[in-house]
Amino acid sequence: MSLITYLTRIHFGAGLLDEALRMECGRLAITRALIVTDKGLMATGLPERVANLLAPDVASVIFDETPQNPTEAATQAGLQLYRDEKCDALLALGGGSAIDLAKAIALTSSHDGPLSQYAVIHGGIAKIMNRLPPLIAIPTTAGTGSEVGRGAIIVLNDHRKLGFISPHLIPDAAICDPELTLTLPPHLTAATGMDALTHCVETYIAAVFNPPADGIAIDGLKRAAANIRQAATDGSQIEPRTQMMAAAMNGALAFQKGLGAVHAMSHALGGLPGRTLHHGMLNAVLLPHVLRFNEPEVGHRYAELKQAMSLPASADLADAISQLTADLGLPTTLSQMNVTRTDLDTAAPLAEQDHTNATNPRKASTADYAMLLSEAF
Ligand SMILES: [Zn+2]
Repeated sequence: MSLITYLTRIHFGAGLLDEALRMECGRLAITRALIVTDKGLMATGLPERVANLLAPDVASVIFDETPQNPTEAATQAGLQLYRDEKCDALLALGGGSAIDLAKAIALTSSHDGPLSQYAVIHGGIAKIMNRLPPLIAIPTTAGTGSEVGRGAIIVLNDHRKLGFISPHLIPDAAICDPELTLTLPPHLTAATGMDALTHCVETYIAAVFNPPADGIAIDGLKRAAANIRQAATDGSQIEPRTQMMAAAMNGALAFQKGLGAVHAMSHALGGLPGRTLHHGMLNAVLLPHVLRFNEPEVGHRYAELKQAMSLPASADLADAISQLTADLGLPTTLSQMNVTRTDLDTAAPLAEQDHTNATNPRKASTADYAMLLSEAF
């Protein structure tokens, strides 16, 4: 049995930010918005531009303290500003971190703490009610697709990187304007793009019956595989940027079906204290190893993935993804990312406990994760 839903509102197209933003603020009756963004984007002037776009009808306050991996501490700081400034809505502007952080601020502004009780593994899905303030998500990367997703990944004060999932966490509107990604540097384009590609692959082979998700994932994979190299080498072209943003959107529309062992491990590693490991980079390193591990269960489905990536039928899917990662100039091992052997011991049991482990097509134990992490080292 499956629950299949695709109820989300998306504006998609180059140059539509201004018009879509005004329309959505009016529709949602927003009067004072907290703009959740990061310091990198502040330097580009985009948050100021958005604030000016909203004025004079909608007042706004900028919170630019989004960490590379969003944390409970940043959620608390954002919530404080939201309350001090008497905001009535959130506007997330940035990559998946800013969007996930805005979701967590929206959640904590309308639900009593502590945040950890709303995590999926603590039965949070049933505790998140339909009383969150309006949230508009404006992605500036093409990767996580959090703008259309019902989840947020937050590093708690105790260093666990946990998933929060609810239909009420889906932004009230996503504004996907690929023009906002034109200046994203090659390295980040590649790393976030590999996150989108991983979502499509991992969703497609997840152990759940959801044909619409499979179709969306294959379409997203086609777009990602055909455009990621060009977007990462000549980022000034709007067409590959548009295709990558579509791939990211598709990946996240599809992954409500469920992810798997790649994300179980990248969540575990991403929460390591004192580290800022990039989620997309971790996925790119881990994906080939998980594909080999899962092959006995779902290898028969790899032909369609290879076809979507325009690979010959004789190609090895895991090897081809490793090669793509290397071509993009990304690390291909965990040691290249300065992960240590001790980190692997910490991450293996956490991966087994991660909510995405449940939908991996081949059952994976802590010992299996220790082996996979060691292979990827
Ligand atoms: Zn991801």
